[in-house]
Amino acid sequence: MHSQVNSHMNLQRQSFFAEQLLSEEGWQSSKFINVDDQGIIVSITDVAETQCKTSFKGAVIPGMINLHSHAFQRSLVGRTGLKGATDDSFWSWREAMYQQLGQMDPGIIEAITAYCYMELLQGGYTSVAEFHYLHHQAGGAPYADPAETSRRILAAAETAGIGLTILPVLYSWAGFGQQPLAQRQTPFGHGIDSYLDLLDSLDKHCKEAALSDWGVAPHSLRAVDQVQLHELLDTLARKKFSGPLHIHIAEQQQEVADCINFYGARPVQWLLDNLPVNENWCLVHATHVNEEELEMMQRAGVVAGLCPTTEADLGDGIFPASRWQELGGAWGIGSDSNLCVNAPEELRLLEFGQRLRDQQRNLMAAPGETVGAELYASALSGGLQALAKPPARGFTPGQRADFLVLNQNHPLLMGKEKDQLLDTWVFAGSAEMLSQVWVAGQCRVKNGRHIEKDKIESEWRRRVVKY
Ligand SMILES: [Zn+2]
Repeated sequence: MHSQVNSHMNLQRQSFFAEQLLSEEGWQSSKFINVDDQGIIVSITDVAETQCKTSFKGAVIPGMINLHSHAFQRSLVGRTGLKGATDDSFWSWREAMYQQLGQMDPGIIEAITAYCYMELLQGGYTSVAEFHYLHHQAGGAPYADPAETSRRILAAAETAGIGLTILPVLYSWAGFGQQPLAQRQTPFGHGIDSYLDLLDSLDKHCKEAALSDWGVAPHSLRAVDQVQLHELLDTLARKKFSGPLHIHIAEQQQEVADCINFYGARPVQWLLDNLPVNENWCLVHATHVNEEELEMMQRAGVVAGLCPTTEADLGDGIFPASRWQELGGAWGIGSDSNLCVNAPEELRLLEFGQRLRDQQRNLMAAPGETVGAELYASALSGGLQALAKPPARGFTPGQRADFLVLNQNHPLLMGKEKDQLLDTWVFAGSAEMLSQVWVAGQCRVKNGRHIEKDKIESEWRRRVVKY
């Protein structure tokens, strides 16, 4: 699955010195992180194993994983706030999103995505899972290369220098019971055969791209039918696919009602009862689940893919995250519509939603734990699992060398250490609090600013602003 880093990245073995770092074993002081020529951590030691040119003064923590993004939706910001004649909801927002699709072309998609990924890096994410469904031209005609828009996402990730797991989406129907796609949904459409061809094509492209990998994403139970799901999973099993599988599920009450009406079961219940779901699955949103479904999810070992700002923006509802945490369930965060491109804000809102519901504080932590630190480590671990990588709550050998360096000169961080640093970052974090962001042993953000910001912004100006 894992692609090799391109030779043009020109990496060499190197060691980094950190005065404080968050490792899988907890906080450690005065350590060297030794990184190989592919940008992978090989060891964390007291003595440098190779040349050390970089010393980090502030605390170093692993970059956050963004497990669910639709990058093109970043251009919707500010365009969905006009109150409609009837109650606004996810469904009216989706109409506004569909209206934007007619203006998209591959160049625009690439420019928006590169800009969005640059912002994600500045916001503390070093990996993104892109749930990519905008496959064809407006009107539904495929591009000459059916992988055209997917390749643009790969190119954008390379420009920004973020780790990418592209999840091309299988989207065949407008609703339960094989309802045909509406005209405006035709740019998403794939049948099983063309979808499997797309996966094969992406497998080749990811082998050539730095820092990129792929996984599989049946869009939802409403957009993919039962026969297709079985055929897809059987084919993947034959190919011994062991990568990530993501699905949107139970985001909306309407979807739950439609699923009960069609399958006679709630979405999460039906999925877990009928398909071989395991720890490689990420259930995105899973907002409307009951206790029985939560326990089924826990037994299956899935990751809950939570997208707090988008779920709040769309009025979806509140996932029972504190109960899920109590059950030991894995979870991570996604920026989804990319209204918010900042990891600490996402974690903060997750915790705050639980507090507002329960009228209590510090809900995502057990007695004796610091809630900000617990939120960060849990989201990191669940995020890694959602990319089919070994879960870990801090740096550990085998991980990519993705570093966030907290700004030791920031007044709010001064005089703090260990979990208090993470609590400050999660509840008051801003771009100013991050002095550097590194991906695969390469610096991408310095003093809150992406090193290619001018170039990436000028592409946005050239291609995106005009539409
Ligand atoms: Zn989504």
